[in-house]
Amino acid sequence: MTATLYIANTIVTMNENNDILNDAGIVVDGNTIVAVDDATHLQANYPTAEIVFCDNSLLMPGLVNTHCHSGLLRGTAEGLPVWEWLQQFIDPMHRVLTPPEAELASRLCYAESLLSGTTTIVDMWRHMDGSARAAADLGIRAIMVPYVAEHPDHDYFETLDTNEALIKQWHQTSNDRIHVWVGLEHMFYAQTPALGRIANLCKEYQTGFHTHSNESRFDVEKTLERYQARPIEVLEKLGLLEANNTLLAHCVWLDNAEIQILADRNIGVAHNPVSNMKLSSGAARVQDMLTKGIAVGLGTDGEKENNNLDMFEELKTASLLAKFSALDAAALDAWSVCRMGTIDGARALGMDKQIGSIEPGKRADIIAVNTNTPRMTPFITSGKYQNLNHNLVHAVQGGDVRMTIVNGEVLVKDGKLLSADLDNIIADANLAIGPLLERRDAWIKKSGVSINELDQ
Ligand SMILES: [Zn+2]
Repeated sequence: MTATLYIANTIVTMNENNDILNDAGIVVDGNTIVAVDDATHLQANYPTAEIVFCDNSLLMPGLVNTHCHSGLLRGTAEGLPVWEWLQQFIDPMHRVLTPPEAELASRLCYAESLLSGTTTIVDMWRHMDGSARAAADLGIRAIMVPYVAEHPDHDYFETLDTNEALIKQWHQTSNDRIHVWVGLEHMFYAQTPALGRIANLCKEYQTGFHTHSNESRFDVEKTLERYQARPIEVLEKLGLLEANNTLLAHCVWLDNAEIQILADRNIGVAHNPVSNMKLSSGAARVQDMLTKGIAVGLGTDGEKENNNLDMFEELKTASLLAKFSALDAAALDAWSVCRMGTIDGARALGMDKQIGSIEPGKRADIIAVNTNTPRMTPFITSGKYQNLNHNLVHAVQGGDVRMTIVNGEVLVKDGKLLSADLDNIIADANLAIGPLLERRDAWIKKSGVSINELDQ
């Protein structure tokens, strides 16, 4: 295969020193970055490489969305805090969701992600055989995490059996782009014996584990009531922090002892600032976690708790929420936020050797961001007024992404999705939502019960 040399005025490497290179290039051979250097050197050293000039763009590593749910409920599940919201809008939807609807939701989600610069996504969703097909087709790097429940009150969710079947079929497939981890909606969604199997599955298949934890104050209070201990302590006691890679979404309400457990056990955290604000969950102690060396990545959460999957917006919100909640304009500096969206997100997934920065030997997951826009101006790439990190966190939007490359494949070019017919996906999603909501309403009416998972 011929190598490709991508040349741009500016490359934001997100390497250890956050180096910014000017008039530089990236040589991609197959799925791998083989060289990053001055453009003139690379042209001399790789004379047969096909050259792609990325004019008016900066190149940077693709964004890593560490927590998302495919879905079709955007804008239809509003105005409730998280546990009531789950009971009224989300769990009844899960009861009636069909596999074709679930697959379509994943196609919509992955298309939106690629178009806004996300190259890796952690997706917790249902009927994920279809999600894996969608990821295989669209080209995104995806960690599939089924929404598992092992509890009679949630027998409509995925199970550890379906999770294991998905691992057997899809883990490390599509040139290693698709991984399957063991999932769990929340520890309340499983009875204790099932929890032991989670650690065993992670060990048997050498894979990771992902669940939600410490999202709301209610979550912590209920755990204290049931177990007389806080959620992270309970997860540890139940053996759920044993997997090679364990990733916990939210971790908003943590005490110091819990933060220490996360640090000691090398647990990754997915911080979801938009979702945490929208569902009135609270402000996570991000700076405290970073100080302890915990790998904190960013996540959009789903289409219904955000309501878009624009990771650049998540960068900005992470910065604003940290500053606002600490009443400190210097809280969570812009480079830290850039790292959370890229290399620290990769580290939270245990994938920082493969992705998250522009460095030789890494997978070619690269995006080009338009620099020729009013919101990117002034564009100062060096010197004491260098402003790229601030622009990337506070100014850029997902729609500024011109090109998205995953595993060496160009999937978005000139802002257009190449790997799927976007118009078809949108039309199909608009057709699917009516029947899905009707079936959900019918189920709610028929059941006639007020659903209250927490009083089991
Ligand atoms: Zn979530």
